[in-house]
Amino acid sequence: MFLGERGWLVVELLAALKKYFGFTDFRPGQREVIEAVQAGNNVLAVMPTGQGKSLCYQLPALMSSGVTVVVSPLVALMKDQVDSLRTRNLHQATTLNSQISREEQVKRLNGIRRGEHKLIYVAPERLRNHSFNELLLGLPLELLVVDEAHCISQWGHDFRPDYLNLGEFMRQLSKQPRVLALTATATPRVQEDILQQLGIPDAVRVVASSDRPNLQLAVRQLTDSQAKLVLLEDLFTVKEGSGIIYAATRRDTEMVAHHLTTRLNLRAAAYHAGMAPEQRSTVQEAFINGAITVVVATNAFGMGIDKQDIRFVIHFSLPACLEAYYQEVGRAGRDGKPAQCLLLYNAQDRALQEWMINNDSLTREHLVIFWQAYARGLQNHRAVINTAELVAAGLDENRLRLVVGALERHGVLSLSERNAGMLELVSGAKEMVPGVAQAVLLESQRRLNERRNKLATLVNWVHTSRCRRRMLLAYFGEKIRQTPPSCCDNCFRAGIGVETTSHEPLEILRCVQQLPREVGRKKLTAILRGTKEKSLIERDYHLLPAFGKIKNRSGKALLAMVDRLL
Ligand code: ADP
Repeated sequence: MFLGERGWLVVELLAALKKYFGFTDFRPGQREVIEAVQAGNNVLAVMPTGQGKSLCYQLPALMSSGVTVVVSPLVALMKDQVDSLRTRNLHQATTLNSQISREEQVKRLNGIRRGEHKLIYVAPERLRNHSFNELLLGLPLELLVVDEAHCISQWGHDFRPDYLNLGEFMRQLSKQPRVLALTATATPRVQEDILQQLGIPDAVRVVASSDRPNLQLAVRQLTDSQAKLVLLEDLFTVKEGSGIIYAATRRDTEMVAHHLTTRLNLRAAAYHAGMAPEQRSTVQEAFINGAITVVVATNAFGMGIDKQDIRFVIHFSLPACLEAYYQEVGRAGRDGKPAQCLLLYNAQDRALQEWMINNDSLTREHLVIFWQAYARGLQNHRAVINTAELVAAGLDENRLRLVVGALERHGVLSLSERNAGMLELVSGAKEMVPGVAQAVLLESQRRLNERRNKLATLVNWVHTSRCRRRMLLAYFGEKIRQTPPSCCDNCFRAGIGVETTSHEPLEILRCVQQLPREVGRKKLTAILRGTKEKSLIERDYHLLPAFGKIKNRSGKALLAMVDRLL
């Protein structure tokens, strides 16, 4: 039998896969990505969580004689990757980040200089560091990996201004390395944006199916947090295995974890970014080794957690968008066995997300606070700014990043160093004219609108009576032919013949039309159910034709219907 050139490459890849990792076959998408990289292409790979994205660059890096730099947003994730390679007796990987002592940094940098490390994990801000960039210039940099690549897109769900550095960093390099951008969740629009931001429009795209047939999707609409806690109590009398409960605020994570441990005797713990790093790693370790069965966390938890047997992910509050939702539920059932994903929703959840979006808006005042501090500190084109002072003046860390990132993009300044509590900035070629400020504010407005749209899409998905899986995947640009037997709550309902169409929504709308003035959701349901409350009679609501039109529904069921219409 004769093997063509490609055939030999596959044989070679399989042999390397066995040699370095002990695996006998590639998972879907892995081989396509690696082949495209080996053939000298830039590549964008979209693969679902748990499918093995890391291997797509680790294998080419180990097979290459050159250096691979991996840009990754999370320090803990980098450490895990390096440790896991070490357990496989692969010692050519190292990380550089701000949490390593200066002494250790120097040691690692010397190791890199001597060519001992083939695979270097760095945080995106490292690429601003001149001495590091100079060091890289002297190395045979062959592959630049951008992990969690959606972070570069302002239209993605987790935009990180530091990622915008990457474009600038690449322009500085004398010889362009190949670029491999990886992400689990990117809509077609975000994919386009990633390619544009990285300057690789010609990249080969490998988009593996995002479908995870073993995940069962469901939503329950409830009236408030109390009802959610009651439901959790019911669920946990039967629920087995370990899982994650996501909540939107730190306070809620603690409240729910407390409830589960005290009321239900579960081994549960909270996890959020407000906890000390040691505390967080203790919880994470305990969850991974099974000492804790439930982690109640904010979205700070989960990236890079390689636990195969997570049996459920429950959203106690609404996430920010479908991307965030899918990324979070994607942590369940990595072993391929059935896992349940349940989102608990009440109308106030949306308001909280809206509040969070508004909290990220940039105003003229924020720009003024920043600009005054910058102009005050400017000497010989350099300014050192104390971030605590800005925070005290009303410009928090998150907004500060947004302002600096935006001004960098407009060429007004560049960030040369970021250390704990201070920023060193260098003035750019352009002036801070009113037009720039206006453009920055407009961009911010556009980004917020995009987030609002994403939230609205998620809320639509919550209220849909169609197949949740189809709708979710369609959002990511994918059409599925067949749904699994345990697909979602809506498919289940349709399967057992629960009627999902009725005249009731129309009755509700008619009632709204007849109302002489605006009323709240609860009053609307009371009118429709025809309850003889004094407050209704006093205002003549009992005279409306719609009064008492839907008598045979419970208040709760009717309220859920009203929410769906909203
Ligand atoms: P992702 O980054 O896509 O979420 P990871 O790279 O963390 O996923 O990989 C998830 C797990 O799958 C890891 O434990 C990894 O060792 C394993 N894995 C990756 N590729 C293969 C393969 N071809 N065969 C078997 N296991 C694999």
